[in-house]
Amino acid sequence: MDEVKESVASMTSRLPGFYKRPIAERLQLVADMAGLTTEESEVFSVSSGLSSGEADRMVENAIGIFPLPLGIAANFRLNGQDCLVPMAVEEPSVLAASSNAANLLRDGEGIRTSSTEPIMIGQIQVLDFPDLDAARAAIESQAEALVAASNRINPRLVERGGGAKRLLVREFPDTALGPMLVLHLEVDVRDAMGANIINTMVESLAPEVERITGGRVRLRILSNLADKRLARAEGRVKIARLARAGWTGEEVAQGIVEASVMADVDPYRAATHNKGAMNGVDAFLVAAGQDWRAIEAGCHAYAARDGRYRSLSRWRIDGEDLVGVIELPMQVGVVGGVTKTHAVVKVVHKILGFPNATRLGEIAAAAGLAQNLAAIMALATEGIQRGHMSMHCRNVVAESGAVGDEVELVVAELRRRQTYDHATASVVLAEVRAGCHQKVA
Ligand code: NAD
Repeated sequence: MDEVKESVASMTSRLPGFYKRPIAERLQLVADMAGLTTEESEVFSVSSGLSSGEADRMVENAIGIFPLPLGIAANFRLNGQDCLVPMAVEEPSVLAASSNAANLLRDGEGIRTSSTEPIMIGQIQVLDFPDLDAARAAIESQAEALVAASNRINPRLVERGGGAKRLLVREFPDTALGPMLVLHLEVDVRDAMGANIINTMVESLAPEVERITGGRVRLRILSNLADKRLARAEGRVKIARLARAGWTGEEVAQGIVEASVMADVDPYRAATHNKGAMNGVDAFLVAAGQDWRAIEAGCHAYAARDGRYRSLSRWRIDGEDLVGVIELPMQVGVVGGVTKTHAVVKVVHKILGFPNATRLGEIAAAAGLAQNLAAIMALATEGIQRGHMSMHCRNVVAESGAVGDEVELVVAELRRRQTYDHATASVVLAEVRAGCHQKVA
């Protein structure tokens, strides 16, 4: 494992012309870089990545598997170290867009990332106590003992430097059920996502909480608003590098800042702005075997933490640079879940150089920042549709009924006309079949 970490740490994520190579060559290149065995490379083919037997062990009522394309986003550089970023996603243009933006953000040390400690929150709902103030005071006076009791449940976690750290009491004096207390057990879950660790702890504390408060415990479950476990990514681009046909660098940078401000003030825009960032985050999380629903829920709740739903990223101009920051609650793990059982996920972790949970979360945040930059850069200039539809073109052509060599001929003609609707695809297919569009040698 150490050898893999070393060789992955010294590799480059610059992969010029990667997108033009046949899929087998791309895989071979990544296999050579990450030192994958033939067996490990073979997990990326549909038939061997996940057997139906494994699917049956993972979920109930399984009838098979559901494959997604897996790609590599190139050009990522985090804190001075290059990184190939695997992404599993069905939407065209996510991999191209994040690779392009990562290239803009890679100068110097590249994207700078940091994280808080991996603290997750477990909640215990308490009802029907005789007196709110007395119940609160009783829990607060026993908080240390309750934390110590939680740690007796998972001594191995404590040995690893984690474990329960704090117990807080939150009160809701006036609910539809009368007064309610919600206890927060804060647990350092180290390299785990932490849901099962936390749920076991809060469930076992419940009887003692009932005894101490004289009340009744109902829910005992982690909170997916993991606002104590944040990953942050900050990227810089020289404004001059943003220039493109018809636009100066200053105009593009200003457009990006204007888009950022709109997403900060308008929840209707913030939702779409954040969806764009989550395109990169989720595609990476799926490939890395993470519970992306948990992280999605956490990110959107975090986006609304001051009472209004806002953007998860901010862009500003700083001298000659455009600077972007994204901060996300990041409940990821490299132990537990499917990280050690899913054949493809295991090889993805090898390509990543076996990161710890903190590094994995920071790669996710960097993927979100790059994807966000790509999206708002396109929106703030020519609009997103031209690039997106050009990428989507192959799907439209496939739906028109084109087969074999016809596909490339119809795609080429639609790109020439810059029209990507189904009706035009059908017309062009008929023209191809009538011999109107020949392959250019
Ligand atoms: P898990 O249940 O597999 O527990 C992790 C285990 O790994 C623990 O026993 C821990 O002691 C051990 N471990 C070994 N090395 C470790 C290290 N370096 N750091 C930390 N622990 C180490 O995994 P989990 O992370 O507790 O739970 C994750 C799973 O729970 C995911 O599959 C998730 O989908 C699911 N889940 C999520 C929710 C939710 O998000 N609301 C609710 C329930 C379950």
